[in-house]
Parts: sequence; C-alpha cells; structure tokens
Amino acid sequence: MMKSLVITDVRAICTAPEGIDLVVVKVETSDPAIYGVGCATFTQRYRAVVTVVEEYLKPFLVGKDPARIEDIWKTSMVNGYWRNGPILNNAISGVDMALWDIKGKLADMPLYELFGGKCRDAVPAYIHADAASVEDALDLVQARIDAGWSRIRVQIGGYGGSVPVDNRPQGGQPGVYYDPRQYMKTTLEGFRALRERFGDTVELCHDVHERLAPSDAIAFARKMERYDLLFLEDVLPPEQIMWFDQVKRASTIPLAMGELLNNPQEWMQLVQNRSVDYLRLHISQAGGITPVRKIMAFCEMYGVRTAWHGPGDLSGVGHAVGAHLSISSPAFGVQEWSCSIRENTYKVFPGMPYVRNGYIYLNDRPGIGVDIDEEAAAVYPPQDRPHDWTLCRLPDGSAARP
Ligand code: MG
Repeated sequence: MMKSLVITDVRAICTAPEGIDLVVVKVETSDPAIYGVGCATFTQRYRAVVTVVEEYLKPFLVGKDPARIEDIWKTSMVNGYWRNGPILNNAISGVDMALWDIKGKLADMPLYELFGGKCRDAVPAYIHADAASVEDALDLVQARIDAGWSRIRVQIGGYGGSVPVDNRPQGGQPGVYYDPRQYMKTTLEGFRALRERFGDTVELCHDVHERLAPSDAIAFARKMERYDLLFLEDVLPPEQIMWFDQVKRASTIPLAMGELLNNPQEWMQLVQNRSVDYLRLHISQAGGITPVRKIMAFCEMYGVRTAWHGPGDLSGVGHAVGAHLSISSPAFGVQEWSCSIRENTYKVFPGMPYVRNGYIYLNDRPGIGVDIDEEAAAVYPPQDRPHDWTLCRLPDGSAARP
C-alpha cells in the first residue's frame, strides 16, 4: 500500500562546488522523511531557472500528489501555455527528477530497479583530454590510459582549435577567434599522431562543437573516418539538422549529437531518419527523466544509441540520473564523465557515483541514491562567472556559434 502524500515545498538550491554554478531542486512532502532532489542546472542563466521553480512551479505544485509524475510533468509543461526552451525544461527537470527520487524512496528501490533493472553491471564512460597541442595530446592520452581509461575524447587547442588567427582585419571585435581551416588541419594531424602512438588500443572521440560550415563538416567527417572514432560529436549545430543526412551518407564515421536539443521535433527527426548514431541529450535540458525514458525507448526501436551529456555543468544528482538511465536501457551506447567531478562534488553530493577503470558505479540506495548536503553546498556559493568562451568569432570578425 503506497503512502498518500502531498507536496509541501519546492525549493531551488544553488551551489558551485567545483566553481561551476549548479541548480538542484528539492521537493518536500507531508512526510518530513520523504523528499526528492533533481538537477535543474542551466549554468549560464541559473537565476532564471530559480525564478521559474520558486515563483511559478512551487505555487502550481504545492498540495499536489507527488506520486503523479506523468500528470505533473505534462501539466507543468503546458500550464504557462508557452513551452519547451532551456529555462522551463530545466526547471521542470528539477521537479521531475525529485518526484522519481520520491517514488524510488517510497518503493524502497533504486531508480534503475524501477526502470526494469540493470542491463549491464556498470556504465562504460569516456573522459576528456583537452590538450594545448598535438604533443600535449599524446601525453594527456597516455595519462588517461594510465589512470584506467580506455575511451577518451580528445580536443586540441580547445573547441575549434585556438591557434592564433593572424589574418584578422584591423580593429576587430573582441572575442574567442578560431580558424576552421586551421582547426581541421591540427585535429587531423593530432589524430594521426594518436593512432601512430597508441594504435587501436584506445577508443577515441572528438567534439567539433558546431564549429564548421556544412560542406566543411562533410569533408572533415570523411577525413576523420580513417581514425576509427567511437564518434564524431556535434559536427553541425541544431540549426543545421537537415544536413545530418548528407554527412551520414558521405561517411561511415559514427555521428553523435543532441546536447542543445530541447524540442521533441528535433530529436524525433534525427532518430527517425537514423541521421545520427548516438543521441546525446542533456537530460535536464530535455525536461528530465519522464521524457528521456520515452526517448530511450524510441532510440532502441530505431537502433540509435545514447551517449548522455555528462559535463561539469551538471549536479551530482544529474550525473547519477544519467547513470541510472544508462545502466537500465538496451539503447545505451556510452556515457560522458566530467573531469570537473572532484573532491568537493563528493562533499556536496553524498552518494555521488564513482568511476573505476572507465566504469561508473551507482550505489543501491532507494531513489536516485544521491542527496545534497545543504550545509556543504552553502560553503560553495554560485560564482556568477562571465561566459566569455561562448563569444566566438571567425577570422573576419563575424560572430560564430560556440
Ligand atoms: Mg559536446
């Protein structure tokens, strides 16, 4: 017999244990022992998410039955009539994950049990190697291999390669300049050197981070094909989704995409057309567990695998939710693991999953199995850092997507 509860409070907790601003939503119920936590992190605009959670979702949800997850998700999404978008989706995700956390606590089961049980014993993950140069990439990849990793995402000179752009017009705008041609050249050189050094003993992937024009993306995918990548990520931006079919037809390189998507029309099209091999949603940006479970089933039908986004701008709760979904779905391909997950994350998020030899392990506590220690969280308040890395420019000074 399930307990009958009502939601009594919905709060947003902001913290930056590793210097990156995070938002966690806590949903409290009429039983003080039963509460849930969820990730609502949109780090660049976190105060807007807090406003939606506390000023709009809280009054809408207090008094409602936390057991009715599906109904709460649907009504929260349409209650303001205007829907989707990163601010609303993240806010709803915070509540949605918290309700699943409550559900698991009431059932006395970890989420992966509610999702049908484990499909695998642990979650295979990849880690980043962000190198300054080709030489540095060789050393960093060796260091990751020595630390037990066998799947590594390699970037040389940051997204788009930050080689000095010396042919700029005079008196140009400030910004992070990059040269797509130089970027392609350095990255190809780098991957050739990596394969020469490491052979096929390590799985490699690379994130283009939407820095190429469509025809360059097609040519680059073909040239990268010989380095046998796990996947090539975000070869194009969401605004150019219609080009993915052409990239796919031009090359056998596996394609991954999706961290920026927040509208069902975007991922439906990519999956239905088999335009990508890996869907890489940022779970909170997509609206939380409720929609993402359906998307995983949808991916499974079409033979598309998942590689959920696992960056530093995700709370410990968000990392654990990704692992629960990944460990229990046949559609799973690989999971991203962030280099920003360090000691402070484990202090603020007790129960946070850990990694050994490239595998993520979850605990078997009920619900998400991760809490937020509010006292520890308060030791690391939000930093409100500027987000200059997004202010990208091409050599002629024109603004580019980050
Ligand atoms: Mg990415």
